[in-house]
Amino acid sequence: MQEHAGASTLVTPTPSTGTARGAQPSAVRAHNLHVVLDCIVHAEPPASRAEIAALTGLGKGTVTALVDTLLRARLIRELAPVASTAVGRPSVPLAPARATYVGLGIELAPDGVSVRAIDLAGGLIAHTTLDLDLAGSAISGGIETIRQAVTQVVDVSTEDGALVAGACVAVPAVVDEKGQILRSDSLRRWEGISLPAALRSADAIGDYPLHVGASASLAATAEAALARSEHQPEQFIHVYGGLSIGASIVGDASVRPDVYGGLRELGHISIDPRGRPCPCGRRGCLRQYASLPALWSAAGQRGEPDGSVLLSLLESGHRATHHAVDDAGRAIARALAAPLGLLGLREVVLDGWFAHIVPFVRDGMRHEFAELLGADPILIRGSLSGRWSVVIGAAQFALNDVFQDPGRIISDSGDEGS
Ligand SMILES: [Zn+2]
Repeated sequence: MQEHAGASTLVTPTPSTGTARGAQPSAVRAHNLHVVLDCIVHAEPPASRAEIAALTGLGKGTVTALVDTLLRARLIRELAPVASTAVGRPSVPLAPARATYVGLGIELAPDGVSVRAIDLAGGLIAHTTLDLDLAGSAISGGIETIRQAVTQVVDVSTEDGALVAGACVAVPAVVDEKGQILRSDSLRRWEGISLPAALRSADAIGDYPLHVGASASLAATAEAALARSEHQPEQFIHVYGGLSIGASIVGDASVRPDVYGGLRELGHISIDPRGRPCPCGRRGCLRQYASLPALWSAAGQRGEPDGSVLLSLLESGHRATHHAVDDAGRAIARALAAPLGLLGLREVVLDGWFAHIVPFVRDGMRHEFAELLGADPILIRGSLSGRWSVVIGAAQFALNDVFQDPGRIISDSGDEGS
């Protein structure tokens, strides 16, 4: 099934044709609203009412009524009419609405909080980043900074009448399905905190749905969406690395490990059972070889790890740093060989700080893959989505509820007509 290029893809989509036997009329209508919205979001070029009817198999009258409902609910908009070659009225293409509903992405990082609002068309509405030593500050200070950043972005977004449809917090952590932080290499103090409860009790977010997800998974959703929109291959392993290392398997533009990160944190997968001890209790975790702190000490540096210093050392040809980064690349390749081989995937995307070291790890990784998997080359590339992949992925995920169940917005806005 196709997924909206601008929407997150972690929720299992409903089938796009047919309705459940015995479903109530309202359930059928809710399903059909989803089908029509889904069609509008994915059609390329934008589809008219008649084209939607042809694509979905729904009757023209049904489509017209559903489109009217979606227009009234401000979920879609009409584009300029296009003259058709056949005799008759020009057709009116439809597209997702701009600046009516926004999804809020909230990224917690060791050095600050970023909040971004995007609309249903994927457009950027507002963004702010507030610097704070989130790793070292008291939780209350962190929550207050989140509240300020969210307020700034919501104020800008709602100035012209946009409504917040939902929010998603991205944390560099393993979190459970209720949004509690179970383990984090870079935000230790936040372990045990239930984010929805903490944010709601501090009035840091409004009365809209709130999701919590692992930064690495949300960056992967942004990358999957961008790969789709740029017609790049949509099957790869996405590795988000820096202070910690997470990985997601992306297939057909959807991200397989769920938004909650599960227990599949790549940084704590052992590549050597007799290797270096890790604070998690195991030995030889990938993190001990390939994370920023590991590279920092392997490069002979002291003090707090600094990714930009390491990059300049690489560019200036510093030998110890080159060795450390080459070893890191090989360690990453060893951790990825089995899933790549099992799933028949041929591409690895490095994101986060790792995106910068692609030119320095590529040869070593290729060599390792060739040894472990045979001759078929594995493509290794940096992410397309750049610096803000995490917060973009989170904002896209926040809109997912709207795309999956537009009926919820419509019943909230009191339009139960047609
Ligand atoms: Zn570990």
